[in-house]
Amino acid sequence: MKSTINKSWHSTHRMPKGASMPQRINWHLQHERHCQCRPTPELVKKAMERIVAKKEIS
Ligand SMILES: [Zn+2]
Repeated sequence: MKSTINKSWHSTHRMPKGASMPQRINWHLQHERHCQCRPTPELVKKAMERIVAKKEIS
């Protein structure tokens, strides 16, 4: 499996140091769309799913 890194996207979208979970989710959502250098961590995916589920209810 080859990974493609979108360097220009990374240079303009840096993960803040000590990012909170909402910040990480937001970053990975954008990251998935623009770059495939690495998969979204399982922990972040799980948190995303919980947010999506909540949004569907309300
Ligand atoms: Zn990337």
